[in-house]
Amino acid sequence: MKFLLIGQGLAGTLMGFRLERAGHQVEYVDAPEQTAASAVAAGIINPITGRRFVKSWRIDELIPAARLLYTELEDFLGVSLWHPQPLIRTLYNRGDLNDWQARSADPGYSEYMEDEPATGRLPELTQPVFAYAGVRHAARVDVATMVAAFREKLIAEGRLTSGVFAYDQVPALLGADAGARNGNPAYDHIICCEGWRARFNPWFADLPHGGNKGEVLIVKTQAPLLNLMFKHRVFLVPLSDDTYWVGATSENQFSHEEPTAKNRTFLADRLAEVLTGTTYEIIDHRAAVRPTVKDRRMFLGTHPDWPQLHLFNGLGTKGASLAPCGSQWLADYLLAGKPLPEEVDIRRFNQPLR
Ligand SMILES: Cc1cc2nc3c(=O)[nH]c(=O)nc-3n(C[C@H](O)[C@H](O)[C@H](O)COP(=O)(O)OP(=O)(O)OC[C@H]3O[C@@H](n4cnc5c(N)ncnc54)[C@H](O)[C@@H]3O)c2cc1C
Repeated sequence: MKFLLIGQGLAGTLMGFRLERAGHQVEYVDAPEQTAASAVAAGIINPITGRRFVKSWRIDELIPAARLLYTELEDFLGVSLWHPQPLIRTLYNRGDLNDWQARSADPGYSEYMEDEPATGRLPELTQPVFAYAGVRHAARVDVATMVAAFREKLIAEGRLTSGVFAYDQVPALLGADAGARNGNPAYDHIICCEGWRARFNPWFADLPHGGNKGEVLIVKTQAPLLNLMFKHRVFLVPLSDDTYWVGATSENQFSHEEPTAKNRTFLADRLAEVLTGTTYEIIDHRAAVRPTVKDRRMFLGTHPDWPQLHLFNGLGTKGASLAPCGSQWLADYLLAGKPLPEEVDIRRFNQPLR
């Protein structure tokens, strides 16, 4: 079958890779001049999140699927993408420590939680903290490198049209008029993967699209510092030997997608509070919008009146861990008729699920 994917960020890349591997033809439209969340994300996979130390949704299933798919993509693209890395987080006070210890006694938690993690040079580089805790099975995915390498391949193979997709082309491309196929379709299926800009897609306008703007700093140090990810109010994530990702801010209300001076100061202040044992230089400041959904679950599924028009969106703050399983569920549904998990099926918002 022949597929057109609108958007080639993390969602479009993983979806297209799965379809190609299953023997299908895949073409893309993408607007590279727009900011994309995938170009800004650290790609952290964090099994234990939030102040209450809760296990991420379906994480036992998501991590093995992510490891498998990203390592397959490493071989396919010839780039390094999957970086298992310890994640150390600060426990700020006695209450945090008690909560952490209580949580680690809950069923299914102990394999992800470590009370006395190896901290390397962290104590000499950062301000003293009440206690450190370790999250096991954390990783970082180099999402930006993956999307860029995949894009290069698509361009070389003439399979990527650069520009903003015009949504009124959908019926003609599907060889349909008023919903009935009546000609030679250019594509058998169209899958919309536009990230937060899906809110401008009139075919799926009824869904409760959200958007959460995030800003990050990239800093460079004199010499390599850490080979672990550290969360102390903000995340400090090693990217290469001497550059670090620092972030991120989170804003549901925003008037533009550009980085702001206010958030640069906010992040720089947070970093200065924590990274006290070395000098560094801020070399970049980036912003993008996360595609969020109010119930924090993905958007997967098919347009109610157009059976060849589909959506893969809503990856929110956890795209790196969610997208490998999400793309598998959508591929199984499209290619083998397997039902989508109800929690991610877009029919949860407008129609009773059968
Ligand atoms: C600051 C920040 C930090 C983050 N950190 C992490 C993290 O550590 N771990 C994690 O798992 N997730 C993280 N995320 C979330 C993650 O980035 C997203 O979940 C994921 O990248 C979303 O991928 P996507 O493909 O849906 O959207 P995007 O990456 O935004 O890609 C959408 C693509 O579609 C294109 N497009 C849109 N409309 C059209 C159109 N009409 N025509 C043509 N092309 C179109 C866009 O140009 C873009 O290329 C972070 C996000 C941000 C902003």
